[in-house]
Amino acid sequence: MPSQSILRIAVPAPLYTCFDYLPPEGVDPATLSPGIRLLLPFGRGERIGVLVEKVSSSTLDTGSLKSATAVLDSQPLLTGQDLKLLLWAASYYQHPPGEAIAAALPVRLRRGEERIKLEEAGWRLTARGEAAQPTRAPRQRQIIQTLKGQPKGITQQALHALCGSCRPILRTLEKKGWVEPCELKPQHIAPTPETSRLTLNPAQRAAITTVASNLQGFGAFLLNGVTGSGKTEVYLGLIEAALAANRQVLVLVPEIALTPQLMQRFQSRIGSLIALLHSGLSERERERGWQAASQGEAAVVLGTRSAIFTPLPQLGLIIIDEEHDLSFKQQDGFRYSARDLAIVRARHRCCPVLLGSATPSLESLHNVATGRYQGLTLSERAGGARPPRIDLLDIRSAPLNGGLSPALLGMLERELTAGNQVLLFLNRRGYAPVVICHHCGWLSECPRCDARMTLHLGTQLLWCHHCGHQRRLYRECPRCSSSDLRPLGQGTERLEEVLAQQFPNHPIARIDRDSTRRKGALERLLNAVHDGHYRILLGTQMLAKGHHFPDVTLVGILDMDQGLFSADYRAAERMAQMVEQVAGRAGRANKPGRVLIQTRHPDHPLLQTLIHQGYNAFAQLCLDERCQASLPPFRYQALLRAEAPSSEKPIRFLEDAARQAAHFNTQGIELWGPVPAPMERRAGRIRAHLLIQAGHRSTLHRVLSQLIPSLGKLKSARHVRWSIDVDPQEML
Ligand code: ADP
Ligand code: ZN
Ligand code: ZN
Repeated sequence: MPSQSILRIAVPAPLYTCFDYLPPEGVDPATLSPGIRLLLPFGRGERIGVLVEKVSSSTLDTGSLKSATAVLDSQPLLTGQDLKLLLWAASYYQHPPGEAIAAALPVRLRRGEERIKLEEAGWRLTARGEAAQPTRAPRQRQIIQTLKGQPKGITQQALHALCGSCRPILRTLEKKGWVEPCELKPQHIAPTPETSRLTLNPAQRAAITTVASNLQGFGAFLLNGVTGSGKTEVYLGLIEAALAANRQVLVLVPEIALTPQLMQRFQSRIGSLIALLHSGLSERERERGWQAASQGEAAVVLGTRSAIFTPLPQLGLIIIDEEHDLSFKQQDGFRYSARDLAIVRARHRCCPVLLGSATPSLESLHNVATGRYQGLTLSERAGGARPPRIDLLDIRSAPLNGGLSPALLGMLERELTAGNQVLLFLNRRGYAPVVICHHCGWLSECPRCDARMTLHLGTQLLWCHHCGHQRRLYRECPRCSSSDLRPLGQGTERLEEVLAQQFPNHPIARIDRDSTRRKGALERLLNAVHDGHYRILLGTQMLAKGHHFPDVTLVGILDMDQGLFSADYRAAERMAQMVEQVAGRAGRANKPGRVLIQTRHPDHPLLQTLIHQGYNAFAQLCLDERCQASLPPFRYQALLRAEAPSSEKPIRFLEDAARQAAHFNTQGIELWGPVPAPMERRAGRIRAHLLIQAGHRSTLHRVLSQLIPSLGKLKSARHVRWSIDVDPQEML
């Protein structure tokens, strides 16, 4: 056997290992590089795998190794660096490496198709065409004139746009030897020059200088900047610094579709060197962006969670905006945290990573406190805007009208009369969270979940937000046939109705997932808000994300109390982040802002700290509580979940798993459970979990790496669906 003739391949299959193959018959292994795809015989079928490394010996008998069927790429799709990150992530999050790597490829490439060519078909003048005497045929002349202005050529599409349909004429010109077809790289459109550029304030400049002077090595930075403090300007300044050093930049944001303004701001500053990668794009558009990034054509990638794996040969800076946002953690399948992987990737690449937020996660604040991250602060709003004033509104004995207290209604009235915009936040879409029979007390429960079905009047549906189950509205109570069915509680649809009655002269923009389902709907709504067409804005957390509403002077927060008493220890942190983010929409420009929070628990110490001392003090209080309770970030957790159609099976499997864990060295490991999940029944399945916790990451991973691959062999595993979630963010 020649050395390194065995191919170690990541094959998408639910197994915690790579597979050894021989090269296809007659193929010299020396011509194969890690990162290429191969077609492989696998089980009874065929799969597409990615070459991870070449080795000289296999744990299996070489005689029993199969040969790969075909080589699919001449050039690697992924570099050694990309593979290293993916394999690290697969191992850390206990996910099969073949599935992790497949998930990082654009869909078409995963299926084994040829990669899209970045180059586009175009035309250019030949030397003879340049020298030719002007022809008398006007169309020919037009085309030649157009091409003369484009020495490198022009794409077919652009030519079509300029000269109309011109294929036959091009063919005539080609026959004369005056023009020739060519392939063109994506054309870079220069950024639109800004009329006036902002002068950065000293805090912004200091943040940029600190990170930019570290472009050559690893460093993790937390930019803790209050809402409206100009964090985006810091990102843009750093991007320019990295581009000037010929490096690529990766920027991750929670949801691009929700922040069209941010996208526009980036595009106008950086131009078309930017590739967008998010789920709103077609497969082909995404793949083009991916290719542009991996070939070094795109200097900046602006994407959501999964863009963390985009190949970037010249990567020199990673930015994670709104780093506290839950959407950076994938909640099913390959359960990675893009934010945490950004730190790992930056360390592998020896480049800086900047996490930004007005409400940093407790994890990141703790990392600053322990010196793992360097903290950068923007404590004041940029451009002279003042922080909003926040007050609690005790609604314990207030007569509510559609969830609105008289005090809040009065304030709304005042601001609207003064010609200002107001924003109301209610994180519950639909008309009402439940329907009740006034006669017998029946509630609209989901038949498949331990949850209630939300009333959606717009679509005339009862809709379970947990499993997606829908049904038409009941005309009468299914239990007692009474027709006295009533909505109970408030959702955004109902709030819109109440506001329309109260303020009939003011158009209302309702912004939630239902009102923005159609493509472009959110952008249209936001634009109309900016034009001042709408005076009243109302919506769910979609409104809290990064929007800039300069005329909003009053923010009303309707119902945040659940966050204070949830079974999930992270609920308070989430509530505070939401309050702070929503509050941050008020008074961002020259008008002062005011925020009113309706609550039935005005004396709650967490709320008191939050509104009187601010988010950072609140976070410190929470961290102290977590420390005392031995919870993350002072402990490391993994959650083993199991579900099955019947009730004993998940618990039995988890008990077996706990017994199995005891075979390994469990010193320093705590097992909590198994216990039923907080929502035990969901989508018709009974769910339970086992929490595995340790004081050190390495201890936790030592046990996980032995335990998880062994679980598939348990008899009880056959009757359940199970998954492991490392660093879980939700305990549901
Ligand atoms: P953040 O991302 O921290 O919420 P942004 O970067 O969106 O804040 O900035 C908020 C507003 O302040 C924007 O309208 C921005 O143009 C403006 N701004 C940012 N930096 C400055 C500055 N140095 N001087 C004046 N205005 C600024
Ligand atoms: Zn009834
Ligand atoms: Zn349901």
